[in-house]
Amino acid sequence: MIKFLDLQAINARYETAFQEKFSQFLKEGHYILGPETESFEANFAAYCGTKYTIGVSNGLDALILIFKSYIALGKLNPGDEVIVPANTFIASILGIIHADLKPVLVEPDEKTFNINTAEIEKQITPKTKAILVVHLYGQLADMNKILQIAKKHQLLVIEDAAQAHGAQNNDGLKAGNLADAAAFSFYPGKNLGALGDAGAITTNDKDLATVITELRNYGSTEKYVNTRLGFNNRLDALQAAFLSIKLPHLDADNSRRRDIANRYQGEIKNLKIGLPFYDGSKNHVFHVFIIRVENRESLDNYLKESKVETLTHYPIPPHKQEALKLYSNLHLPITESIHNTVLSIPISPITTDSEVSKVINLLNAY
Ligand SMILES: *Cc1c(COP(=O)(O)O)cnc(C)c1O
Repeated sequence: MIKFLDLQAINARYETAFQEKFSQFLKEGHYILGPETESFEANFAAYCGTKYTIGVSNGLDALILIFKSYIALGKLNPGDEVIVPANTFIASILGIIHADLKPVLVEPDEKTFNINTAEIEKQITPKTKAILVVHLYGQLADMNKILQIAKKHQLLVIEDAAQAHGAQNNDGLKAGNLADAAAFSFYPGKNLGALGDAGAITTNDKDLATVITELRNYGSTEKYVNTRLGFNNRLDALQAAFLSIKLPHLDADNSRRRDIANRYQGEIKNLKIGLPFYDGSKNHVFHVFIIRVENRESLDNYLKESKVETLTHYPIPPHKQEALKLYSNLHLPITESIHNTVLSIPISPITTDSEVSKVINLLNAY
């Protein structure tokens, strides 16, 4: 059986370090924020190259906190429009809605699956105040073009980097350091995953970092002194400690993912199967490897019978979800076609060469 993602085996690589850290954690008894959280924040900021990292509870809360903090700073106002790709995990859109802003769904570029920059300008109105870019599947969006549009229309640019930890542009800048602020998720299955829920925000904006730091902790930086109507969105200290152990291995893990992706790209040769666009650079960290196929169910069943697990990212586009029925009349044919035809095949830092060969052989024989 080739699992889609063997989280137990991924984390088993750090078992000794986790156990030592847990014993130390138990002895120290500092459970909320404190040295482990601060140390991970410093480590992750250094990794991303940003001035600030604020550890938070999860990726969705990271998005909400960024938007709520911009509202607290007066840089956004409730009701403002935020441009967001229509084909994303629903959290990107919920992050906007839960901050009382209005998502404007934009079609992706069929080639890269990322937001179609030509479509962005068509959707800009006087109410548009920000763009939330998603580096979908681990591949950086076209940031040069997006920043150019944002500058022209004076829009904030926020990255949803939940699938792109460590992705790097040609200037060596990493996801999280490509715009005004970025949201990360350390959900266990992400490229950098905790052993529970966790997230972070990166930014170079001191004022924004200050407000986020307050809002994630009851609007307070000094105990029992509350300056803002805050939340409890703190990064759990134990998860921070685990993440600090895993972070130094992220680049090697991403590199292994790219090696596997290169084999899939080079060796899958079947006209029925579409391969994703990849320019060969470090701008893709292959959070997932997407193939496209007309009759997804048939291929999926074939792989399952051959004991290869797959997943679909994602089976139903956000605007077709009952929760977002307000948006159900939008005409988004590219998004819908992508959601109808994508299938994710196994890729992870511990997927072996022989497993990759088996997947390739099965796909070529299909
Ligand atoms: C995982 C994910 C999130 C949400 O992260 P959680 O930690 O599960 O809240 C947001 N956006 C994208 C694109 C994601 O893949």
